[in-house]
Amino acid sequence: MFENLSERLGSVFDRLTKQGALTPEDVKAALREVRVALLEADVSLPVARDFIKAVEEKATGQAVTKSVTPGQQVVKIVHDALIDVLKGDGEPEALKIDNPPAPVLMVGLQGSGKTTTTAKLAKRLKEKNGKRVLMASLDTNRPAAMEQLQILGQQIGVDTLPIVKGESAVQIAKRAKQQATLGGYDVYMLDTAGRLHIDEVLMDEVQAVRDAVSPRETLLVVDGLTGQDAVNVATEFDGKVGITGVVLTRMDGDGRGGAALSMRAVTGKPIRFVGLGEKMEAIETFEAERVAGRILG
Ligand code: GDP
Repeated sequence: MFENLSERLGSVFDRLTKQGALTPEDVKAALREVRVALLEADVSLPVARDFIKAVEEKATGQAVTKSVTPGQQVVKIVHDALIDVLKGDGEPEALKIDNPPAPVLMVGLQGSGKTTTTAKLAKRLKEKNGKRVLMASLDTNRPAAMEQLQILGQQIGVDTLPIVKGESAVQIAKRAKQQATLGGYDVYMLDTAGRLHIDEVLMDEVQAVRDAVSPRETLLVVDGLTGQDAVNVATEFDGKVGITGVVLTRMDGDGRGGAALSMRAVTGKPIRFVGLGEKMEAIETFEAERVAGRILG
């Protein structure tokens, strides 16, 4: 869908930039196509509507400067409006890590890439920011998930909390806090249990963990390919747990533009990072400029 959006906007603006003068009808026609393209890219209807409205308001009554063609001017207005929606407030230091040990809570559905992202961020904090990081898996129902984090930890040279059978998620979180304090860590990352769908038990558990450690950051990990579902998941998690930011994974796949736009517009939460593959280095700070540029092609 990303390719479609990009190509489509590209062809619309290509047409416009080839015309010397731009009539109001041309602008309307262009924005109609932008709107359709946004919807096809899985941007939600209200978001697409608001976006188009903002662009129209900006375009209306704006004198066309001599240095650019009217088409280029519309491209710039659309580009700026995309940035307005997409811009985050965490860049370039995407995570607030202070008052050590700072707890970072990782939440999200099973399969979203939560454990992978936890390890990717831990590696980043260690290598880019020089932080001492401790990771702990709270997924008491899935021993394999706990082991997965341990294996990733060994791979990237980041400590994980030793696994103790029979503990609850809250007990593990408290032990992580204690070990992080005693061990002089800067950050401890809690990889909470995911479920296939949002359910009460999951939310109660995450709330209890949150209350036990008062996280500095609560990052929601969502699959960027799931479009509108990702936005619904974010709305649910934000309402129940309160999130400070979002990580969109699988942005190396096909569905790039739409989810980011809706996510930012609907939740109002900054997209801190994007996951770009399975490797431990495959994570980047979310950059509005780059994504807006990509959407416009
Ligand atoms: P969890 O159940 O949410 O903890 O999900 P995992 O971290 O186990 O990830 C599920 C699968 O998605 C694994 O095979 C990961 O390698 C893969 N994955 C995670 N993030 C990305 C990403 O950004 N891009 C791609 N292509 N795969 C990813």
